[in-house]
Formats: sequence, C-alpha cells, structure tokens
Amino acid sequence: MNKILVFCAVIGSFWGFESFASTHEAHEHGLARMDLVVEGKEVEIEISGALDNFLSFEHKPETDAQRKEVRDMAALMRNAGALFVFPAEARCRLEKLSLDSEILGKDLLAPEGSKQRDAHEHGREAHEDHGDLDADASFICLSPEKLTGVTVNMFSVFPNLRRMEVRMVTPKGQKAAELSPEANILRW
Ligand SMILES: [Zn+2]
Repeated sequence: MNKILVFCAVIGSFWGFESFASTHEAHEHGLARMDLVVEGKEVEIEISGALDNFLSFEHKPETDAQRKEVRDMAALMRNAGALFVFPAEARCRLEKLSLDSEILGKDLLAPEGSKQRDAHEHGREAHEDHGDLDADASFICLSPEKLTGVTVNMFSVFPNLRRMEVRMVTPKGQKAAELSPEANILRW
C-alpha cells in the first residue's frame, strides 16, 4: 500500500500556526497514536490519528455516501470490544466510548437516536484539507490480575492504518511500543 506522509503544519503557516502546533501532534497518514492506561480494574485506551486512517476523505462529509461512511466508521469504533481484545479470563467489557473530530462534528459520530444527534452540533465549516479523529474507550475488567496484554485489531478493520505508536502505563510500569499489521499484540 502506498504510504503517504502529510504533515499539516505547513497549512497553518500564518498566525494560526502557534495554536495549531501547540494542540496537535504531527498529522501523518497511516499513523495513529495510542495511549493505554491500566489502573486497577480499569483500562483506558485513547486513539488519535489522521481521519484518513479511518475514512476515504478528511473533509466535512458532503454526500449521503460520505455521511454513511462516517456513521459506519463510528459504529466500528463503538464496537471497541472487537478492536481491542483482552484475554478472556480477565473478563473485560467496554464501559464507554467517545469519538471526537473537529471536522466531522458530533451528530454523525453519535449513535442514531441518541441525545447528541439532537444537539445540532455540526463540524467546522472551514475548508480543511486534513483532520483528525480521537477515540477514547474505557473498559472494566473483573479479573484484572489476568490482564497481561491486548490484541489490537485496528489494522484489519481500518486498512489505511499502517502503524501505531503506543505509550502504556500498566502495573508493570511505563513502556513505549509500536504496532503494525504484522505485530498487533501488546504485552505487559
Ligand atoms: Zn491528512
């Protein structure tokens, strides 16, 4: 697969640059960042990366097909128990998932019929060339002592995603790791 690296910093090269640079890490197609924190029974996973990893476009959806693509992607993300698979004996279940993207807006990312869909909150109107997505998942594990790792199935679900940079904090300490389609298991 073609690996295209795009750094958005260049598009903010006027007065907007400073605030852009301070709130965003480099925007790179094919790469997502993952922060994983295990504390007691709770596991928090935060994913952030270019929208291009998860969709075929990075602008505000303009057609019904694009709106459907966003809803389908959000549904795949909400099924986070399939994206992040813990050892069965740790008895983990997804508690909460939130999705955020300045470009897409909350109404398309929320489950159909949920309160957020009535909020009429729309994505930024600006003509952006690039955008990011943040996903935060919280799991509760009833037998956390059996929690020794997680299999990350993001790559097969989102084929544009090629690499994940991981920072994790677990009872075993802090660790950095890198995941790819060929190496998608984190152990601690
Ligand atoms: Zn981009």
